[in-house]
Amino acid sequence: MSDVIIGIDLGTTNSEVAVIQDGKVIIIEDNHTKILPSFVGIGDNDEILIGEAAKNQYALYPERTIKSIKRRMGEDTSINMGDKTFTPQEISAIILKRLKTIAENYLGHPVEKAVITVPAYFSDAQRQATRDAGEIAGLDVVRMINEPTAAALSYEAQQKSHKKVLVYDLGGGTFDVSVVSIEDDVVEVLASHGNNHLGGDDFDEKIVDYIVKHIQDKENFDISESNKVIARISRAAEKAKRSLSTQPYVILEEEYLCEKDGTPIHLSLEFPRIDYENLIESYIDETLNAVHIALKDAHLTVADIDEILLVGGSTRTPIVNDRLYKEFGIEPHKEIDPDLCVVTGAAIQAAMIAGQDIASAVLVDVTPYTFGMSYMGSLNGEPYPHLFAPIIHKNSALPMNKTEAFYTMYDGQEKVEITVYQGEDSDALNNIQIGEFLIEGLNKKAPSNNVVTVQFTLDLDGLLKVFAKEKSTGLEKSITITNALSSYDEFELDSAKQRIDALFSDENPIDNSNKIHHDIVKAKALVEKAQLKIADVSDEDKEDMGDFIEQINTAIKDDDLDILAVATESLADILYYLDE
Ligand code: AMP
Repeated sequence: MSDVIIGIDLGTTNSEVAVIQDGKVIIIEDNHTKILPSFVGIGDNDEILIGEAAKNQYALYPERTIKSIKRRMGEDTSINMGDKTFTPQEISAIILKRLKTIAENYLGHPVEKAVITVPAYFSDAQRQATRDAGEIAGLDVVRMINEPTAAALSYEAQQKSHKKVLVYDLGGGTFDVSVVSIEDDVVEVLASHGNNHLGGDDFDEKIVDYIVKHIQDKENFDISESNKVIARISRAAEKAKRSLSTQPYVILEEEYLCEKDGTPIHLSLEFPRIDYENLIESYIDETLNAVHIALKDAHLTVADIDEILLVGGSTRTPIVNDRLYKEFGIEPHKEIDPDLCVVTGAAIQAAMIAGQDIASAVLVDVTPYTFGMSYMGSLNGEPYPHLFAPIIHKNSALPMNKTEAFYTMYDGQEKVEITVYQGEDSDALNNIQIGEFLIEGLNKKAPSNNVVTVQFTLDLDGLLKVFAKEKSTGLEKSITITNALSSYDEFELDSAKQRIDALFSDENPIDNSNKIHHDIVKAKALVEKAQLKIADVSDEDKEDMGDFIEQINTAIKDDDLDILAVATESLADILYYLDE
């Protein structure tokens, strides 16, 4: 079957190739890895190096190694690699040729056609250069599709739907956000915005600066002058950053970093996730500003977005998920490996063009529920022992392993009760309790703020292990819940029924803060949309819209949900008829 069309994600830092076989996406591995670093170099014996081998020599021989060639596509320029000169298209073609060979080795026959993805913001010149690169590599580029479109396809392969989707793509060196409209088979990018120089590499740099400052303060020694030391710290920083995606803190540890007056300097520093998040917060703010610009360009608001898709390795950073959830009131999708959903979409598009069956193209195992535990916090200014801390979020790919830190409340606290829940309400009592245990015998001498880490591990069979550990002494306790993913048992059905009944009972109003949150987000978004339109409407509409906006703002301030509901609906009605 030589009319097979391969799908290629030709990325700035990494590239991948995939095909559909028997209705399933196969991301093709080479040397046990699905990811080919987008590096090209010339080796010691004048041989061409591609991928990992070229990446490995980059630090040593930058003059004969090329990285991030995608940034130069479409430029009329020549690139020096060793004593040879290439165009950007030629360097990209070298990468494409390797991907073509990887596919051919896997399939066992020649491959001539490909779908290649490009960023939505690529100009005609950049697209043409990509097409030329394909041709140089011996590939007929039957279609080029936008990366966010590919990401959307990877999620929508099995469904026909009408949706507005936000694709948030945060990689190593670039950030893009796109608003994508899906109308049955037509997937269209409505607007895109981003920053070509913002990504995980900047996060690494922040950690490096933090370590340099730490050594400066502690040892009164400046390590920033030594490239070798900085290279070592950069590697440690990236590794720590990845661990912080699933761990509440890491220990940054490097022995014999350098010498000061003949004495070795070691690095040993506890680095909590919260400190890391503070370091990168302004970058995350910047991405959210871009989200709002893209929404505005698409003439949409937060409330119009039905789904959020996460793309790019840096979206594994939990704060990304948390901030988007706060902003939109919906849980972003992350079922498909964020590094692989663009190539998955490229392969699906390729199969669609080739007329292949893609009925079950994307099969991923995810948790349909959020799991977490209760903790003591404050609700409406009062201490409240049942606040819910989500730990494994709904839509996470399985198996999943996540650890969070909790703190004791008072000096000498000897026990902590861990109650495990399934659900999403910020009040744990509105979720389903699925297990509890006590850890006793905590260090009596410890002051309050004694750290207890709690690890949740959920496997494909729905086995949830919850494991708690007192950080300072290593004291541990755990439980296993065997059917965490199964549907409610009778007891749970009963308690669910009671909660639903309570919704209809005036005497027992239920605190459904997730819904409240969503209502408020929606109302604010409507106000935003109305404010964009208000200048262009009749005086009568202007007056009505002004009244409803004021009512909404007052209702939010006074927490008056009834007035909020009525005013939101009235404003939505006006906007609806203005849109007609
Ligand atoms: P990409 O360009 O999409 O391949 O993304 C690469 C970026 O994702 C690099 O900056 C990586 O350090 C970052 N990255 C990969 N895995 C993780 C992780 N588990 N947590 C945070 N960042 C990650």
